[in-house]
Amino acid sequence: MCEVGKVYLVGAGPGDPTLLTKRAEYLIGQADIVFYDRLVHPFIVQIAPPHSELVSVGKMPYNNHITQEEIHELFINSAKEGKTVVRLKGGDPAIFGRVKEEVEALDTHGISWEIIPGITASSAAASSLGIGLTGRNVSTNVTLTTGHFKPESHDKSNIQTLLDGGTIAIYMGVKKIDGIMRQIQDETLEDYPVAVLINATLYSEELVIGKVSDIAEKLISAMNNYQPAIIIIGKVIDDITYPLPNSVSKTLINGRHEAAVRTAFLKYHSKEVAYIQPIDTMSESYAAYVNQLIDQHIFDKKISIQS
Ligand code: SAH
Repeated sequence: MCEVGKVYLVGAGPGDPTLLTKRAEYLIGQADIVFYDRLVHPFIVQIAPPHSELVSVGKMPYNNHITQEEIHELFINSAKEGKTVVRLKGGDPAIFGRVKEEVEALDTHGISWEIIPGITASSAAASSLGIGLTGRNVSTNVTLTTGHFKPESHDKSNIQTLLDGGTIAIYMGVKKIDGIMRQIQDETLEDYPVAVLINATLYSEELVIGKVSDIAEKLISAMNNYQPAIIIIGKVIDDITYPLPNSVSKTLINGRHEAAVRTAFLKYHSKEVAYIQPIDTMSESYAAYVNQLIDQHIFDKKISIQS
């Protein structure tokens, strides 16, 4: 029997591939099989070796077509086959990432694991907005909370921090934003400034700012349910300096995987977008992934690199 493989629970950060940790980049490049979430940037998935298998385990919001238990089974079985498994999760796996369930499932099967942290959406959003989530004399504490609870739960988002003069960042809150804002108005009697950053760190990033009293209405026209958005509330929002987004060029890079990944990273460092089309032998799922990306995007440039 082959040796049991290891499972890496890897934080892919908020989107921009240049915000990936070195360890994450290295491990993705070593994977035999990658299970990726919906919010992971497609180029980050492409860092996996062309012979690796790529498997989407993306759950669409409000439409769980694959259960958490089924995901566990998939990566546990792969590890038992001796594979190096990368479970790619958006942001930081430790923040609304269900990492505890995954670690427990792996422990139950005696499979070793490692968690690689990532930059979480609220940190990334704060950087885009040019603010701190905390600020001297402005906000001394910050709460990361969510608007999305188990269907049977009566939990509410935790807004105590606002009353204590702090900042709150709400994950998965857009669908419930109406109710959350009403809750804040009822419990605080204050009309705090609110920023909603959609697709933070991506070229499609969009900002909607307002107040607790009007943000829900402003948002209606700005977004659909499938884009990720983070809601940040508190006095720190008063200090936003938000640059107007530039239009970006998209390049398709054809060449050997390693060199193409290197060139693509340089594009991302210049705030451009790039995907790769490796000339190496690809697994069926990798090739399908590349074809799908090519179908979905219009490229301004296609380049071939030699090396
Ligand atoms: N583990 C992730 C969060 C997973 S929950 C992290 O640490 O960031 C998914 C929610 O995260 C989304 O509904 C959205 O609220 C937020 N999110 C993730 N990526 C985002 C992005 N690029 N821009 C804005 N919000 C994002």
